[in-house]
Amino acid sequence: MPPQVSECPDRENSVTLAPDRSDVRSDIAVDPAAPESSLFALWPDRLRNAALILLVAGIVLATLTLSGNLSVVHAGIAFFCIVGAALVPWRLHDPAASRDEPLRIDPVEAPAVSAVVSGMSEPAVLLDRAGRVIHLNVAAAQLAPALRRKELAQFALRTPEIVAALREAIATVTPRRVTFVDHAPVARWMEVSITPIAVPTTFGGEDACLLMTFHDQTPLRRIEEMRADFVANASHELRTPLAALSGFIDTLQGPARDDAKARERFLGIMHAQATRMARLIDDLLSLSRVELSAHVRPDTRLDLVPLLRQVIDGLEPLAKERQVVIETELAAVPAIIAGDREELLRLFENLVENGLKYGASGGRVVVSLTQGTSPEGAPEWQARVRDFGPGIPPEHLPRLTERFYRVNAGDSRAQGGTGLGLALVKHILNRHRGRLVIESVAGEGATFTAAFPQPR
Ligand code: ADP
Repeated sequence: MPPQVSECPDRENSVTLAPDRSDVRSDIAVDPAAPESSLFALWPDRLRNAALILLVAGIVLATLTLSGNLSVVHAGIAFFCIVGAALVPWRLHDPAASRDEPLRIDPVEAPAVSAVVSGMSEPAVLLDRAGRVIHLNVAAAQLAPALRRKELAQFALRTPEIVAALREAIATVTPRRVTFVDHAPVARWMEVSITPIAVPTTFGGEDACLLMTFHDQTPLRRIEEMRADFVANASHELRTPLAALSGFIDTLQGPARDDAKARERFLGIMHAQATRMARLIDDLLSLSRVELSAHVRPDTRLDLVPLLRQVIDGLEPLAKERQVVIETELAAVPAIIAGDREELLRLFENLVENGLKYGASGGRVVVSLTQGTSPEGAPEWQARVRDFGPGIPPEHLPRLTERFYRVNAGDSRAQGGTGLGLALVKHILNRHRGRLVIESVAGEGATFTAAFPQPR
């Protein structure tokens, strides 16, 4: 919401929207047909007390005069003295009270109302029936610094959608809801609700006000965008190998029907594409399974040392194929953590396999396991996978764990990658209340550290 303080309201708006004092007066004028309680309800306490004293004094003096115990002159003098005694202190103690001032006390004075508005966690502004700000909380002042108490909100909030909604709410006294995009300093989707409410005034009356609240819809929108992106990415990733498969099937049924050599080659490619699809579906299912159980922390105690050895043994054939040597520097004592065995195997397979695939040019991958401490000082087991390949340019590091994010999409696909491996690693670590640290120096390889808290 751009700050609007320096901008002057245009005349047309001020004519249309500025509150007319006579309007306000007519609001508070006493209705002669109203019952006595509502008539008294509009009087300040002290004036009401004075009226009651005068009424009682008048009755007593009239009774004394009629019974002959008091002369009319003396009764008149006594009555005027009592009038003075009852009214003067009220005038003296309440200098604000004058015939020109409305008897109603504005809800701005009601501490309970301001406390409720101030206590709301979302930006909230209480407006009078003309749109003037009565109260606003800190969040609202931060969101729209141009809002000022006793000034028209329409002038401070220049967003056309809000101004239109406010005008409608004022004219129709019905709730209004409007969504708009606030572009500065970063794009945010905001929803504004304007709800007419009757606010009790200090002396028992009611004032028609408008409560305007702002709801930041940005997180919801972002999740919605991420969901749409995810579906688009997943279908794209599946469609590519599927298109290749159906293309080769057509070729094998047509031009290459009798070409044994081509058939052999195409079947090999089709097998690789089918494997890629299966892997993608496998990774997607694993991700959703880990996400589903994200809130349940695994509690099985297991030793990371044999688990890492099992992963390394399983990847030896790939290491041979890529001509990479896997070196190990594992702790000599059991590295006990609370974990889910299958998920941890998946996690380390992804990290070591990435080292073998993307860091093959370095010729070696070092897997180490040491004790360390978290940034908060808690003891943890730190499993490190280090390769000596080309490394990862720093601008890619923060995004590596996003689903389908790749530094080089062609390279990843050529290696049979799905772009989901590190997303899965991050989710598994989150479930284990661990953390992932990625370090890389261009040309010197990359180090992925998976750290797990040590159980007490
Ligand atoms: P993929 O299935 O593509 O391997 P990942 O999520 O495991 O997906 O990795 C995401 C990307 O991070 C990879 O495509 C690759 O570009 C980069 N990457 C991961 N590990 C390494 C590494 N050890 N060295 C260089 N780049 C890596």
